[in-house]
Amino acid sequence: MAEEHRQPAEQEIVIPRGLCRRCVRLVSRRVSDVPGVVSLRVDAALGLLHVWGDAAPAALLEALRSAGFSRHRCGDVRR
Ligand SMILES: [Zn+2]
Repeated sequence: MAEEHRQPAEQEIVIPRGLCRRCVRLVSRRVSDVPGVVSLRVDAALGLLHVWGDAAPAALLEALRSAGFSRHRCGDVRR
C-alpha cells in the first residue's frame, strides 16, 4: 500500500561544519560508492550532506564513519 514516488527520496545527514575542499571531495567519493545513492550534495558551510536515492541510512553513516567523519572535525579547520 506504499505510495510509489518517481523522485528518489532525499536524506539529510549532519556532517562537521566547515570541511575543507579535500574533505568534501572525500565525503562525496565515499558516499557515492554506497549502493542506492543516485546523487548527493555536500553543504560544507551548513554541515549538511544531502543524498538522493534509496540508500540505507546505516550504510551512509557507515561510509562517513569509514572516512572518519562521523563525529570528527576536519583536521584542516582552524578556529
Ligand atoms: Zn579537511
